[in-house]
Amino acid sequence: MSFTNIVHFLEKIAPLAGLSKKEIAALEKPNKILKAELTVNGKKYPAFRVQFNNARGPYKGGIRYHPEVSEDEVTSLAFWMTVKTAVTDLPFGGGKGGVTVDPKQLSKKELEELSRAYVRAFYKNLGPDTDIPAPDVYTTPEIMGWMLDEYQKLTGEKAPAFITGKPLELGGSKVRDIATALGGVYILEEAVKKVGLKEKKVAIQGFGNAGMNMALLLAERGFSIVAVSDSKGALYNEKGLDLKGIIKVKEAGASVIEYPLAKKISNEELLECNCSILIPSALSGVITLKNAEKVKAKIILELANGPTTPEAGEILHKRKVLVLPDILANAGGVTVSYFEWVQNKKKQSWSEQEVKEKLQKKMIAAFEQIWSKFSDVKTDFRTAAYILALQKIVAAGKKHNRKN
Ligand code: NAD
Repeated sequence: MSFTNIVHFLEKIAPLAGLSKKEIAALEKPNKILKAELTVNGKKYPAFRVQFNNARGPYKGGIRYHPEVSEDEVTSLAFWMTVKTAVTDLPFGGGKGGVTVDPKQLSKKELEELSRAYVRAFYKNLGPDTDIPAPDVYTTPEIMGWMLDEYQKLTGEKAPAFITGKPLELGGSKVRDIATALGGVYILEEAVKKVGLKEKKVAIQGFGNAGMNMALLLAERGFSIVAVSDSKGALYNEKGLDLKGIIKVKEAGASVIEYPLAKKISNEELLECNCSILIPSALSGVITLKNAEKVKAKIILELANGPTTPEAGEILHKRKVLVLPDILANAGGVTVSYFEWVQNKKKQSWSEQEVKEKLQKKMIAAFEQIWSKFSDVKTDFRTAAYILALQKIVAAGKKHNRKN
């Protein structure tokens, strides 16, 4: 979503949240937009760090490497991080970074040089209590390790809490690799109970980090995974798919559709297939005016960012389909990032069980808060989540301003 669309959306939601024009105007403006040009082997790459809002705590948000990264996109993503950290009650604000680059065109050495150059450009505005980066599209734990090393060289301090999503041996947290999917599972389990859904047939679009882990975690819990897909197409079996067999095919470097023992369907058909739970885990904007009427699922869990267009959201709400929005459904990742930051600050290392229990508690608490707002305000679940988040940010902003 462009930042202009976010501004429109904010203005639509403001009256429901009881916010004044002045409060909304403050929410529409990022605190700081930092820009730089990074040079690697004579080539220049535009780089950004947008520090959107820190009323609730230090800025928090990933760094994206992608050829389409722009100031507008990074600003939108920084806004979403502000909302996401508020929804889950993490003591953070929102920020985001990006470099306009196709990382697949760089050698490993160049990628390392680019990552170190990013830190040199922005480090004076970053830090464990100021702005804490993390991975995003095409940035990995290894890149986080290079960035940490560069930061520590520049400041002369040992500061693992400067960045999250690090490899375990550099202070990363257990469970981080499956955190997004596991957070989604906890939300879905609560929603299934509230709605009283009996049939647990799940269709998942996208079979990467988020989608594949989601499939495995749900299968372990007795859900039946009837459809999965990747960019080449989808598989369907109304009795449930053989996930182990499909993962074997995927690990051999092929598409899921090379798995021979299931019916092949298209990604579009997957969205409309016979299932009770639909989990878009790949692209944005896939549930639209074209297919919203045909979706059969009773619950949609948005593991991907922005899979449902606003118009489709309205249709689904009218049809009483419960859409669990991305800002809650995929917040498990940033929540475990927060746990990583706490462990680093306290010089602790939590067990896998401890991280999972804390994640479950956080996700359920966030779900319950939104559910009670949802019951009060009689709007769709996404709007309820935004209302709650915006009210928290505005309230914290007032305190923040009084202190300064
Ligand atoms: P990934 O790159 O690991 O996997 C993406 C999957 O989507 C792949 O299986 C790919 O084949 C599939 N895909 C690509 N184009 C497709 C198409 N046209 N139709 C169907 N499938 C297609 O990415 P990921 O980390 O799993 O992220 C997926 C989504 O979840 C993204 O929207 C991302 O922003 C969101 N998300 C991920 C995390 C995380 O921690 N991984 C956190 C928050 C949000």
